[in-house]
Amino acid sequence: MQKDFINLYKQNFIPTYQPLEVVFTKGEGIYLFDTEGNKYLDFAAGVAVSSLGHSHPKLLQALHKQIDKMLHTSNIFMNDTAIQAAQMLTQTTFADKVFFCSSGLEANEAALKLARRYSLEKFGSSKNKIISFDNSFHGRSLFTVTVGGQSKYSEGFGDLPKDIIHCEFNNLESVKKVIGEDTCAVIVEPIQGEGGVIPATKEFLQGLRDLCDKYKATLIFDEVQTGVGRCGYLYTYEFYGVEPDLLTSAKGLGAGIPIGALLAKDEISQAFKAGTHGSTYGGNPLATSAALVSLGYFSDSKNLEKIRQASDYIKQKLEILKSEFKDFIQEIRGMGLLIGLELNADFKNSSELLQKECLKQGLLVLRAGTNTLRLAPPLVVSLEEIDIAIDILKKSILNLI
Ligand SMILES: *Cc1c(COP(=O)(O)O)cnc(C)c1O
Repeated sequence: MQKDFINLYKQNFIPTYQPLEVVFTKGEGIYLFDTEGNKYLDFAAGVAVSSLGHSHPKLLQALHKQIDKMLHTSNIFMNDTAIQAAQMLTQTTFADKVFFCSSGLEANEAALKLARRYSLEKFGSSKNKIISFDNSFHGRSLFTVTVGGQSKYSEGFGDLPKDIIHCEFNNLESVKKVIGEDTCAVIVEPIQGEGGVIPATKEFLQGLRDLCDKYKATLIFDEVQTGVGRCGYLYTYEFYGVEPDLLTSAKGLGAGIPIGALLAKDEISQAFKAGTHGSTYGGNPLATSAALVSLGYFSDSKNLEKIRQASDYIKQKLEILKSEFKDFIQEIRGMGLLIGLELNADFKNSSELLQKECLKQGLLVLRAGTNTLRLAPPLVVSLEEIDIAIDILKKSILNLI
């Protein structure tokens, strides 16, 4: 049965992906089940999305209730859940204002457009340069792939948006060389996710804040992957003690329902007037009812404390694994439950091979950067489930090396 599905996939999909050979039909808690009924421990969580795991009762209850009431209104009118979700975001974060959309790229597109609009209106058209970082990832629209730090994603699509400069991540000197009166915005992930799970240093983010203040540039934190509890805080800027002017959120925000949000300080937000930007689905009642559940759950300090405990536990276990396989695992990185295992580059394609071996053994994991295995389990994972995952990971490494 699974083979038939896989063939149908190949017949019918535009080949933008090369998915692993497994077709899922349902999920429960920390597990996914394939068409044959096999069970997989999900340490991928749909790329750091399914933070409450699968079929979480609180989420299902809220969604069922909303489905029965109303699915969609558009922004020609207002709806109650969007208003409540926006209020929740402004009450729990630095932000004064919120714009809702449906994905991470859309949130970043909105942030970049808003920063440009604000800067050009307030300071004139020459203040338009956007500074970003090598290996960063901000989404797949033409603007966001150009801002992103991997040229392979923006090449071959014709003319690209201009005045975008890439600096070296965690290297403040490289920013000092190019930042100036013509800088409109700096956009950065507090922890580079797709780039290999690489945390920024506190000095780096504070340094960017200071430079943006000095040159009146907008500081944008892309927390699409790091936000909503993923790194042990509602948003990771809290850990760093550095506030951005704009912040983008998506992935875990809907815990499986597509939603994105741009969070903004009041003054900058005013550069968007009625009609300057929009999104049909933005603030969709179903999506914002999911966000209300995830924001409620992940703004609760008890739940965040549990994530930080699970983080300490899994890192401790991984360090033991690293000492057992010194030649294979080079470094354990990350924060909260966004964790990277940098593998030895001498073992060619090792992250890909290890991911496939883990799948065979019933564990779903992600990759990042060039040779990093990325773990992003649901944030409700228990210590016992972490133990099971570590056992499977160990077995998979033994099978591989
Ligand atoms: C996933 C991701 C995006 C893109 O989000 P989409 O919902 O796929 O558009 C942007 N920025 C970061 C940091 C991400 O991890």
